[in-house]
Amino acid sequence: MALPTRADLARLDADDPLAAARTRFRLPSGVIYLDGNSLGALPAATPARVAEVVETEWGRDLIRSWNTHDWIEAPIRIGGRIAPLIGAKANEVVVADSTSVNLFKLAMGALSLRPGRSTIITEAGNFPTDLHVLQGIEALAPDRVRLKALPRDALAGEIDEDVALVALTHVHYKSGERWPMEAVTARTHEAGALMLWDLSHSAGAVAVDLNGVEADLAVGCGYKYLNGGPGAPSFVFVPERLQKELRSPIWGWMGHGAPFDFGDAFFPADGVRRQLAGTPGILGLAGLEAGLDAFEGVDIHQVETKSARMGDLLIQLVEQRCGRFGLELASPRRAVDRGSHVSFAHPDGYAIIQALIARGVIGDFRAPDVVRFGLTPLYLRFADLWDAVDHLAAVLEQDEHAQPRFRTRQRVT
Ligand SMILES: *Cc1c(COP(=O)(O)O)cnc(C)c1O
Repeated sequence: MALPTRADLARLDADDPLAAARTRFRLPSGVIYLDGNSLGALPAATPARVAEVVETEWGRDLIRSWNTHDWIEAPIRIGGRIAPLIGAKANEVVVADSTSVNLFKLAMGALSLRPGRSTIITEAGNFPTDLHVLQGIEALAPDRVRLKALPRDALAGEIDEDVALVALTHVHYKSGERWPMEAVTARTHEAGALMLWDLSHSAGAVAVDLNGVEADLAVGCGYKYLNGGPGAPSFVFVPERLQKELRSPIWGWMGHGAPFDFGDAFFPADGVRRQLAGTPGILGLAGLEAGLDAFEGVDIHQVETKSARMGDLLIQLVEQRCGRFGLELASPRRAVDRGSHVSFAHPDGYAIIQALIARGVIGDFRAPDVVRFGLTPLYLRFADLWDAVDHLAAVLEQDEHAQPRFRTRQRVT
């Protein structure tokens, strides 16, 4: 295929139905941001919204804001706004805690719904926190729980009648590989097990239909494609059909049926609210709600379509212009098998990313050798891809990444 020119890509931008969404973000000039899959960009409305919550709701109205500004309902209200992006009903999603903590709550809840079964299955090489949380559950009850972390190809064959839970990340954080959600969920149900999806690299980037595939449980991240801000709270999905049975292992007062009765005994709230534990962080929730405002009127299928096209173009541009420098595609070639980032392997990956960042092209590196480019259709332009690859080609042609200043590892990569 002929190499697209910059003008070709600029024409795609001119015809892009999502082009206007970029104005909903505050992006620094001179930067091409290819890391919105790790920390979403700042929505233009967020600073004023967070300032209002701080100055007016907290500063002026003080504790009254739990009622007058409905802080108490924020986790449910904001969950309801995430719901359409993931194929859930508004009353099936709540915002709480971090993804790590939510994984723990849901996995423990799932185990108690399958009392005769002891196995949890996940993927070897899953995002570390997902593995660690499940390892921690096994360590809590080694006689009761057995964790199997299996290679992708071997996984479906191991789902047998001892399996209580299959917990997978829909889009792999490194490769961008996407699980066929419907088929894996169906296979899990055939064995009588529950299916939990981690949507951290999916929500806000690809169309997910949790109820359509009959998923049992899901969690996901608020600060990646949902643009909630650093450390924004996570979300939990529990479908109506499981809400009565599923209990959280953390019996906090915010998940209580009547927290302001201040009784000694615990009984859980109805619905997905029982997945709350402690007092929600209102400032974090305000950031997440402003992030979701940036999706107003946006069809997630359009987002997915643009992401797929961007990924195809990025692969083509990198392979044609930089292939001879040893960058190997480390993501699926077919867009239907990918999420919204594209990765390449290179032994000097870390230094290449550092050299790119010095040029204002921000991607990231995942050990041992993966350079990763996140594609965020709301604020990334097609022409940005051309410019980013132009910089990448310049780095490689001029051996810029050989400079010692690009080789010192920082704590966060
Ligand atoms: C980003 C991410 C997380 C983040 O977990 P936190 O508890 O918010 O730090 C978890 N799982 C996956 C798959 C992720 O991509």
